[in-house]
Amino acid sequence: TFMDYDNNNIFAQILNGSLPAEKVYEDDNTLAFMDIMPQVDGHTLVIPKAPAVDLLTSSAGALQHTIVTTQRIARAVKQAFSAAGVMVMQLNGSAAGQTVFHLHFHVLPRHSGIDLRLHGREQAAPEVLAEHARRIRAVLT
Ligand code: 5GP
Repeated sequence: TFMDYDNNNIFAQILNGSLPAEKVYEDDNTLAFMDIMPQVDGHTLVIPKAPAVDLLTSSAGALQHTIVTTQRIARAVKQAFSAAGVMVMQLNGSAAGQTVFHLHFHVLPRHSGIDLRLHGREQAAPEVLAEHARRIRAVLT
């Protein structure tokens, strides 16, 4: 079922500057920032600046920019957290668990034996997110 883009969704507010976020990377077409309820340390989100509800309704151009930034962030997060693996996750529709209706890719550094925390459950301390963002930015520069 088609859902109209809500110009006031949380990620739209981060994009227009009315809501703060711990940003790690930005270019003309995409933005990456720390997930406020990280499922692992280093959990980062990558979004297109163009409005798009999800993967299914995004323009090809926005998607291309977003996946290339996702690759850049996956590499950086892997290095910054000395991770053995990186998980990329992307949810479409509330039935699939999507809660914010602006297209986003989750990037999660993974270590064997360390389980994911529950999705969208517990907020991390701002200073912890700031430190994780700093580590990722340091790798990107
Ligand atoms: P979804 O469930 O739509 O795939 O993922 C939405 C993600 O956005 C969740 O992982 C959730 O923790 C995160 N999130 C929700 N609200 C905010 C917010 O205000 N700021 C940030 N940085 N992340 C958020």
